[in-house]
Amino acid sequence: MTTLRDILSERVREGDLYEKLDRNRVRCYACGHCCPIPDGQPGVCKVRFNRGGTLYVPWGYVGGVQCDPIEKKPFFHAYPGALAYSFGMLGCDLHCAYCQNWVTSQALRDPSAVSPPLHASPEELVAQAIGLGAKVIVSTYNEPLITSEWAVAVFQEAKAAGLLTGFVSNGNGTPQVLEYLRPWVDLYKVDLKSFDDRHYRQLGGRLQPILETIRSLYAMGFWLEIVTLLVPGFNDSDDELTRMAEFLAGISPDIPWHVTAFHKDYKMTDPDDTPPQTLLRAAEIGRRAGLRFVYAGNLPGRAGDWENTRCPNCSELLIERYSFRVLRYNLTPTGGCPSCGHAIPGRWAPTFEGQIASTPFLPGRRRRPARFSILPS
Ligand code: SF4
Repeated sequence: MTTLRDILSERVREGDLYEKLDRNRVRCYACGHCCPIPDGQPGVCKVRFNRGGTLYVPWGYVGGVQCDPIEKKPFFHAYPGALAYSFGMLGCDLHCAYCQNWVTSQALRDPSAVSPPLHASPEELVAQAIGLGAKVIVSTYNEPLITSEWAVAVFQEAKAAGLLTGFVSNGNGTPQVLEYLRPWVDLYKVDLKSFDDRHYRQLGGRLQPILETIRSLYAMGFWLEIVTLLVPGFNDSDDELTRMAEFLAGISPDIPWHVTAFHKDYKMTDPDDTPPQTLLRAAEIGRRAGLRFVYAGNLPGRAGDWENTRCPNCSELLIERYSFRVLRYNLTPTGGCPSCGHAIPGRWAPTFEGQIASTPFLPGRRRRPARFSILPS
C-alpha cells in the first residue's frame, strides 16, 4: 500500500538550508533543532530527509488552502480588513498536544491525521490569491519554517505580482533561516507558547531558540506580532505571563501581544477552556509590563476593550473590532492617531479599503464574497 510518506518522498527537491557533513551526513538549518541527519533518515520534522548525502525538502504541493481575514492570523497592525490567502504543507518540528492544526501538522506522526497533499505551483497559488482579492499570502497551518524553500518560491512569485507575504510560525528559527527569509517575508507571527523551558520540552522544542528568533525578527525589521494561547494550568500563571510580557516589552513595547483562549483540541482535552477572566488577567499583565498593544482573542464580545486598538498616547479609539471584523477604522493615511498625531507602529494602507470577509472560507466553495465596509461611526 502506498503511504503518505511514500507520496511525500516524491514531492521534494534539494534544500537550500543545509550543509554537508562527513560520512554522507547533513545538517539542516531550517529550524532550531539543527538536525544532524544520517544518510537514509529524516529529521525530527519527518518531512526533510537525507538521501545519499543530499537534503531533500517538501516541494510542489499544499496540504490545504483557505482564505482568512488577516485578523485571524492574527495580524492586527497590518492592513486591517485585508484578505490573507493562506496555504500550508504538512508536518511540524513540534508536537503540541493541543495543536489546532493537527490534521496537517501531525500528518506524518499520527495515523489519524489524514490530510492528502494537493498538487500546486507557485503560479497557481498566486493567481488564485489575486483572483479572490487577497492582499497578503501567508504560509501557515503546518510549521512554515520546515518548508521555507517552498514558501520562498511562492513568495517570490507573490511579490512579483504585488502581494505582501507572511509567516505564521512557532518561532523555532535559526540565524540561517531568518537571513534566507528576510528578502521575501513581510509579516511574521510567532506563537510564544510558554516562558518555561520544561514546558517547551514537553512540546518537543526548547525555549532559547524561540526567544532568540523573536529578538532577531524584531532587529531585522520583519513586522512582528506575538500570540500566546492561554492553556489553563499549563502557561497561565501570573509569574509566567509576567516574565513573558516583560521579555517582549524589553525588546519593544510596540510589539503587539495577543493572548487568546484555548479550547479543547487534539490530545489535550483535560484542561478546561480558557475563561474570559484569564484573558483579562493576562491582558492586564501585558499592559502592566509596558506593552502598548495587548489584545484578547477567541472570545469575541467577552473581552471588553481588549479587541480594539487605542492610541497609547491619548487613548483615542483607532480600530474597533468584533472577532475578526473591523467595525471602525480611524487612522490617518500615514498610520497616525487622528487626534494627537502619534505614529502607530504597523504596516498601514493609506486608506481602509473595506473588508472582503470577516470569516474564513475555502476557495471554490463559495463565490467571492462581497466587500463590505465599516459601519458608520
Ligand atoms: S526542519 Fe528542523 S526538524 Fe526538520 S530536518 Fe530541519 S532542523 Fe530537523
